[in-house]
Amino acid sequence: MNSAEIRQQFLDFFASKQHQVVPSAPIVVKDDPTLMFINSGMAPFKDYFLGNKPAPYKRIADTQKCLRVSGKHNDLEEVGYDTYHHTMFEMLGNWSFGDYFKKDALEWSWELLTQVYKLPKDRLYVSVFQGDKSENLPMDQDAYDIWKSMIAEDRILMGSKKDNFWEMGDTGPCGPCSEIHVDLRTDEERAQVDGKTLVNNDHPQVVEIWNNVFMEFNRLADGSLVKLPAQHVDTGMGFERLCMAIQGKRSNYDTDVFQPLIQYVAKEAGVTYGENEKTDIAIRVISDHIRAIAFTIADGQLPSNNKAGYVIRRILRRAVRYGFTFLDFKKPFLYKLTEVLAEQTAHVFPELKQQLGFVQRVIEEEENAFLRTLENGLKRLDALEDKFKQNGNVIDGKNAFELYDTFGFPLDLTALIAREKGFTVDEAGFATEMEQQKNRSRNASATEQSDWVILKPDVTTEFVGYDCNVVDSHIVRYRQVKGKNKSEYQIVLDRTPFYAESGGQVGDTGYLISDSEQVEVLDTKKENDLILHITAKLPQNVEAGFSSEIDIERRNYIRKNHSATHLLHAALRKVLGEHVQQKGSLVNEKVLRFDFSHFAKVEEAQLREIEHIVNERVRQSIPLEEQRNMPIAEAKDMGATALFGEKYGEYVRVIAFDREHSVELCGGTHVYNTGEIGYFKIVSESSVAAGVRRIEAITAKAAEEFVQAQLDELHAVREVLNTQSNVSGAVEKLQEDNKALQKQLEQFELKQLSSLKDALAKNAQQLDGINLVAEKVDVSSSDYLKKLAFDMRQVVDNLVLVLAAEIDGKPQIAVMLSDNLVQDKNMNASQMVRELAKEIKGGGGGQPFYATAGGKDAAGLNAVPGKAVELVKQMIKA
Ligand code: ATP
Ligand code: MG
Repeated sequence: MNSAEIRQQFLDFFASKQHQVVPSAPIVVKDDPTLMFINSGMAPFKDYFLGNKPAPYKRIADTQKCLRVSGKHNDLEEVGYDTYHHTMFEMLGNWSFGDYFKKDALEWSWELLTQVYKLPKDRLYVSVFQGDKSENLPMDQDAYDIWKSMIAEDRILMGSKKDNFWEMGDTGPCGPCSEIHVDLRTDEERAQVDGKTLVNNDHPQVVEIWNNVFMEFNRLADGSLVKLPAQHVDTGMGFERLCMAIQGKRSNYDTDVFQPLIQYVAKEAGVTYGENEKTDIAIRVISDHIRAIAFTIADGQLPSNNKAGYVIRRILRRAVRYGFTFLDFKKPFLYKLTEVLAEQTAHVFPELKQQLGFVQRVIEEEENAFLRTLENGLKRLDALEDKFKQNGNVIDGKNAFELYDTFGFPLDLTALIAREKGFTVDEAGFATEMEQQKNRSRNASATEQSDWVILKPDVTTEFVGYDCNVVDSHIVRYRQVKGKNKSEYQIVLDRTPFYAESGGQVGDTGYLISDSEQVEVLDTKKENDLILHITAKLPQNVEAGFSSEIDIERRNYIRKNHSATHLLHAALRKVLGEHVQQKGSLVNEKVLRFDFSHFAKVEEAQLREIEHIVNERVRQSIPLEEQRNMPIAEAKDMGATALFGEKYGEYVRVIAFDREHSVELCGGTHVYNTGEIGYFKIVSESSVAAGVRRIEAITAKAAEEFVQAQLDELHAVREVLNTQSNVSGAVEKLQEDNKALQKQLEQFELKQLSSLKDALAKNAQQLDGINLVAEKVDVSSSDYLKKLAFDMRQVVDNLVLVLAAEIDGKPQIAVMLSDNLVQDKNMNASQMVRELAKEIKGGGGGQPFYATAGGKDAAGLNAVPGKAVELVKQMIKA
């Protein structure tokens, strides 16, 4: 059975058990400060388990893209070395939200594995939670009894909290679980060692494939467990491991999920997979990592220097480094793999194939940048070689850390290069540096969250902000969040007009007003589907009724900017082409910013056309067409393009301004009529990343003020030029006049210089066969001073020339000697000028025949000629 069929059978099986099959959520998490990436099938459904929101179906099944590279679940270091942990993997899951519980869940999983997939029962083991005293939890007798009716009792193993109590993170939903393990060893191997002893012991052929979690508890910040409002089932089966078991392979990488990638990499590298452990690991690392990289980028996360973007950058660099070191890939290579991957996954996760060109470009650019960094790091290592030699052939911790931190060299790469050169690395020193950095960043970002204080259980928030700006409300729950220098409160209301920051639109600000007080709302944020009102203080009476009021003026500017963003998006696609995809946006009360995929700079003429189209739409006063609850299929028929990486429900909100022109799925707040936007003005166009451009624009009053400021400037220029029409013509003429005058001036000065030269030459004093000219002169630039000196040299023999001049308020001296004086009489212009410069409190130097000096005291210039005469007389005597 191939992997596509295996996946489909899973979904069909649970559909036949009345499960709704839903698509995978995007892998990048947007509105949850506790989670960067989906790390398990249940993560997208967190709100249903916590009771923040009712589940749309009681039973759901899906395959979910997961990433385990950070936070509580981090398998990154295993990947490539073992054969069954991946960075990105698919988790097949079935869920019950307060519906069926342990019996159905375990019986169905057994039925699917043994009857549909026909895995031999004598290769399967199951585990049950044995209880935990410290948590005050009993053994899971129910699960044990259910298994006993289906499987030989000696194949049921008892497991500790570590293996059989599942938690998504440090806080949140959790519960006991029951795992299913498969033994894929040969009969011979199985006869020698009992498989039971290998379960949960990191054996590559005795692995966990499925986990049935029985969600019953919520872990609070203080570590305690409270019962959830209802009991749920959350199961997760590793798709790649299941394929290994069904296809009878000994490694996930030997299945058809990975083989096309493995073979491609091996061919590129000119090696055979399976012949050498070192190159095999590198090939596995690359084949694994490209999936994580490509799908997170396709879901809208660009590699960057912080947070989720940095995680992606690190995975990409890990892949590049393995290729660089073990497969001799010295040029970008990862990006080429995306094509193989896109073909392979187009039927389940079409988002990659649809954006292939874009994803490739982003990856190639990242690879190039990192390869350059690698090269610089290698140079840095070379430069430090002597230092390491003096250090007893040891690379110290500080330098190893510098290589890691600045050049992206992980310790093992540094160690590898060190070994080639006969050095070792001070690993303890490195660890100390690393720890220090971690402490620094931990201190900078540490926040502490108290548990929720719940005033009204089971009340979910009604958002009324599309229709009203003010509403009566009560507090449902609140908590305190303490940071390093500040403390704030997060308040949840039963009804609110406050829009929480999302989809690029900033959160509302405003007030909660009761009879006795007024509390300012500083911002509004989202945590999954909870709307959090951020305040600096808590109302004295939290049970009071409040009038919740947003800052209406601010919101009105935000609405205009948001609607203008939609018009801009449509205009961009019209002018630049349909390849334009939204890659990020920011809408606040001041500006709007729109990032989109496009490969070249947007030309001035195109920008103007885009701006014009938007302003046409504004002038057409197109009314808003808003559909709050449209089935997603209908919305797509209407022409709405869904954004990649955005999580949509089955019913969506559609915002259209003229269906022919702009139709978008959007949760933001908008104008009722495009006329409200008033005027749209683009203020900048720039590049933000490979293949991503950014346009910033303003609307309404800000646009008016911008234009007015430009006109004021123009007006001022007109005043100065004293002209009412053709300003640029007047400026051009001014420039031409200026140029002509400059030329005249130059000619005039040259003429003057020439007569000055003649006069000086005539005035030369004869001293012992030397023609001495020492004078204070009047020239306008140091260039002229130099020219004068060189011209004098042409017309006077045996010349000692000393010129003193004040140029732009500063004293300067030039000394020029005929070559024969330098050679025969051992005279030196540099020495002379330094001596003379004392008169002007300065210094200088140059060549033996020509030297100059500058100084601070222009009054001293008058003394220079006399001193020069003295100097020359002394030299003659000597
Ligand atoms: P393991 O102990 O093997 O790391 P786990 O206990 O972390 O597994 P769960 O969190 O229970 O696994 O996830 C459910 C299923 O997802 C597992 O049974 C396994 O099949 C699969 N799985 C977990 N982590 C990975 C991974 N990094 N790569 C591939 N599959 C995984
Ligand atoms: Mg694990």
